[in-house]
Amino acid sequence: MTDRIIPIADARYSARTPPVPELAHASNGLLSDARGRPLRDLRISVTDRCNFRCTYCMPKSVFDKSYQFLPHASLLSFEEISRLARLFVAHGVEKIRLTGGEPLLRKNIERLIEMLAPMRTPTGAPVELTLTTNASVLPRKARQLRDAGLQRVTVSLDALNDKVFRAMNDVDFPVADVLAGIEAADRVGLRPLKINMVVKKGVNDDQIVPMARHFKGSGHIVRFIEFMDVGASNGWRLDDVVPSAEVVRRIAEEFALEPVAANYEGEVAERWRYADGSGEIGVISSVSQPFCPSCTRARLSTEGRLYTCLFATEGHDFRAPLRENWSDDQISAAIGALWGQRQDRYSEIRSSETAGLRKIEMSYIGG
Ligand code: SF4
Repeated sequence: MTDRIIPIADARYSARTPPVPELAHASNGLLSDARGRPLRDLRISVTDRCNFRCTYCMPKSVFDKSYQFLPHASLLSFEEISRLARLFVAHGVEKIRLTGGEPLLRKNIERLIEMLAPMRTPTGAPVELTLTTNASVLPRKARQLRDAGLQRVTVSLDALNDKVFRAMNDVDFPVADVLAGIEAADRVGLRPLKINMVVKKGVNDDQIVPMARHFKGSGHIVRFIEFMDVGASNGWRLDDVVPSAEVVRRIAEEFALEPVAANYEGEVAERWRYADGSGEIGVISSVSQPFCPSCTRARLSTEGRLYTCLFATEGHDFRAPLRENWSDDQISAAIGALWGQRQDRYSEIRSSETAGLRKIEMSYIGG
């Protein structure tokens, strides 16, 4: 198999055609990587476009009017995505998350959800199907998504203060419309609903306690995410990170909190519940408390590249195999081979040496 350089539009990120050697299995028969981690979660980016320009993800300085987004022809079709998803599920994937860019900008995404929703794991359990969105179109889409088989959503909301939020999404989008999206999702039963807040020191860290206070008792779970050095364009500095321990400390000053055990091995968020029983929060601490040892996530880009880490610099092209009529067995073997060789642990080795790496953009791979 020769390395393949994909056409100009995609020259930002190099890609290889996947190898086809022997598969690696853990004692439970499931695929495991070189560090014994199973392949449990698949995040599928269905578009690299977004209608927001969040400064920590898609800064306007880079993603401006002249930015070349991927041509539609280079995107995987829904049939190609669901075929790949089916092969990943056969390898042990139990949870599929649809991401972007903003996934709800992908036309007729309900059709893809209808294809994925009936999928079952090798043990017959329904595959968990969720989606991360900025909620901008949720008010008019929530019912369709639910009817198509989506189980729940995660909504990104970085502040309650309208001025702060409008500055962070950098397209002047109001908080009220995101809250309306959350209500719409809740009304149609897309639950449990999680809310992701990326915390940046000096930008929105004064919103930590107001966010906790606002959603306390609502049944929704706010997850406070440490600002990460994803991609190569968000100007990340360690000084801008508010460690999760500080987030918990601030909230605990007002509301007593208790630590809660993870729902499952590899859960990203560390859970804390309100001692008065009115719900819980989560913190995601890729910088201060790396969780690579239990990372079970693979990411598929909208044009069919597989990445085995959020901070990867290179992916593996599965679009060519799909379009060159590789058999299911061949593609399945390639998935297994790639995962079997996986060593990723970026957050554990993050340092000045890794700072210069040309990492994939979060808006391209969907967080
Ligand atoms: S840095 Fe990479 S390997 Fe570590 S938890 Fe994140 S995605 Fe997983």
